[in-house]
Amino acid sequence: MRAVAVYPRLQEVKLIERAEPCLASATGVKIRMLEVGVCGTDKELCAFVYGTPPAGSDHFILGHESLGEVCEVGREVKDLQPGDLVVGSVRLPCVDATCQACRSGAQDFCSTGHHREHGIKSLDGLRADFVVEDRDWLHVVPRFLRGVAVLVEPLTIAEKAFHEAAHVQSRLPFQPAQPRALVLGAGAVGLLGAMKAILQGYDTYIYSQLPEPNPSAVIARLIGATYISSQEVSVDRMAARVGHIDLVYEALGAAQLAFDVLKMLAPNGLFIFTGVPRAESLEPFDTDTVITNLVLQNHAILGIVNSGRQAFRDGIRDLATFHTRWPGALESMITGRYPMEQFLDPVMGRAGGIKNVIQIA
Ligand SMILES: [Zn+2]
Ligand SMILES: [Zn+2]
Repeated sequence: MRAVAVYPRLQEVKLIERAEPCLASATGVKIRMLEVGVCGTDKELCAFVYGTPPAGSDHFILGHESLGEVCEVGREVKDLQPGDLVVGSVRLPCVDATCQACRSGAQDFCSTGHHREHGIKSLDGLRADFVVEDRDWLHVVPRFLRGVAVLVEPLTIAEKAFHEAAHVQSRLPFQPAQPRALVLGAGAVGLLGAMKAILQGYDTYIYSQLPEPNPSAVIARLIGATYISSQEVSVDRMAARVGHIDLVYEALGAAQLAFDVLKMLAPNGLFIFTGVPRAESLEPFDTDTVITNLVLQNHAILGIVNSGRQAFRDGIRDLATFHTRWPGALESMITGRYPMEQFLDPVMGRAGGIKNVIQIA
């Protein structure tokens, strides 16, 4: 079978031939991969910023945003059958008996750092013709979501974020009558975050680089969010226009902008980082203002990595809701579908668009 492999030591990414995996356990499921999404993490893996092959191997298969079709199940798997559509978890637990997070099924909170992640850390990814996975790590997707279900994994970030946001903000003795959310970035993570924010009742603004018209701004309008271009409107003017910013959902990965907006958070506000913002050079960090606000205005800052089972279940449910509520919006987020042989175009950033997908089957 075909697979896209990353060789960190050789600094190579290439299409390879691999033996097709076989069912080796009674709880295993063999999956024919249909589509795998490409994201910023894949781009960083292909730039060899990080990425660890499985023990004993010099390479790992890329891909963690998956959609596949079950083709064979182990004899103990009673609730899946050939033809079912499934999306796989990314992070699998560590084996440390003392890791309370992993032992309680919440490996996204793993405290040992020895968790494994498909296509990222110590586990092969899903950009291959076939994959065998344990039933435990698969989530069933209804057939009518076939065209957009590759977005489930990036949506799980928003699911986990807003689930935690509700916990954090429940500390307040009151809830704002009309809470406002500001999403930084209008890529797939940002747009899915904005959809989730709207579903949660936030008046939602998206602040992203490109001026209108652009495909993300069209989707923003379709879902009822307000799109503001950072090329046209400065951070100060944007903040004045939004008014009180109760929640920031950082989905751009731009450090300077994140720190600038952090200063604009309303009293009792929450700032969520969904990725690691990077910057070539940063202006001197205004520690005074940020820490003073953090304390005097009861600010909270939350980091989100990966997602657990519940986030996948919620993501599949909400994807169906988005699909019905905003016809065409999810479809238009998938701006490119590439055959396996052209896997390099989206991963090397040559493709542009919002969400690019490798079409496997
Ligand atoms: Zn991703
Ligand atoms: Zn663990």
